Amino acid sequence: MSRFAFSWILDGQPHAIDLEPVAGRSIVLGRESDAGLVVPLATMSRRQGRLAWDGARFLFENLSTSNVSRIDGAAVAGVVPLGDGMRIEAGGTVLRFHDLAAGDRVSGPVCSHCGRENRSGDPECWFCGTSLVNAVTSVRRKRRVELRLIGETGDVTDLLDGMVLAPRSGGGWDAVATEAGPRARQPRAWATPAVALDDGRPRVVDETTVTIEAANKRPEGGEPAVISGQLSTGDRLIVAGHQYVAVVRNVPDSAA
Ligand SMILES: [Zn+2]
Repeated sequence: MSRFAFSWILDGQPHAIDLEPVAGRSIVLGRESDAGLVVPLATMSRRQGRLAWDGARFLFENLSTSNVSRIDGAAVAGVVPLGDGMRIEAGGTVLRFHDLAAGDRVSGPVCSHCGRENRSGDPECWFCGTSLVNAVTSVRRKRRVELRLIGETGDVTDLLDGMVLAPRSGGGWDAVATEAGPRARQPRAWATPAVALDDGRPRVVDETTVTIEAANKRPEGGEPAVISGQLSTGDRLIVAGHQYVAVVRNVPDSAA
């Protein structure tokens, strides 16, 4: 796994696939099984585009003449470096590019009221509006994005090192700093963490709330395999009637 992925939504279900950065190798993106990166969508050309890793970034080049790829609305001419959140459009298909490292940050002040961690420099809590003037600032540490969950509506939630995720009843997730728990007034979200890191690997820790369907393990015409615990890219999480797909990061900082 790497920190890079594509995600897309098909028939109301979110999907994701890892992108491995390999210097000097280019990958054809298309809907045919001989394409290097197969995205099985009818609206995509057999050879829709080409991806190449230049040592620092993925570069995208359009290959389709009948169905020219667009990025964030503009037709692709030449080679375009991809950044986190950029959307490649081909026909009716939208592939979203993910670079999880773009979400890395330094830990910030913890709200005394709701226990959530805010970004450094925020004057008041983004979640509840409480002033952060007297907020606890834990020892500054780097928070790496270790997991990204992409919902069926395209919503994105990142799980950072030192935090847990708790599902909201109406859909979506609350991210709570683990060290905030004892200090804060027991925020609701803190009571039911469902996804947490175990030795840096994201796991579902509340399997009564969250069901995991393994990526690519659906037998032909059968039900998808339900797995437990540890997550991999492409696994689907089902919680309270909502679906999310996992993108898992698993590389040291030095190796992209
Ligand atoms: Zn707050």
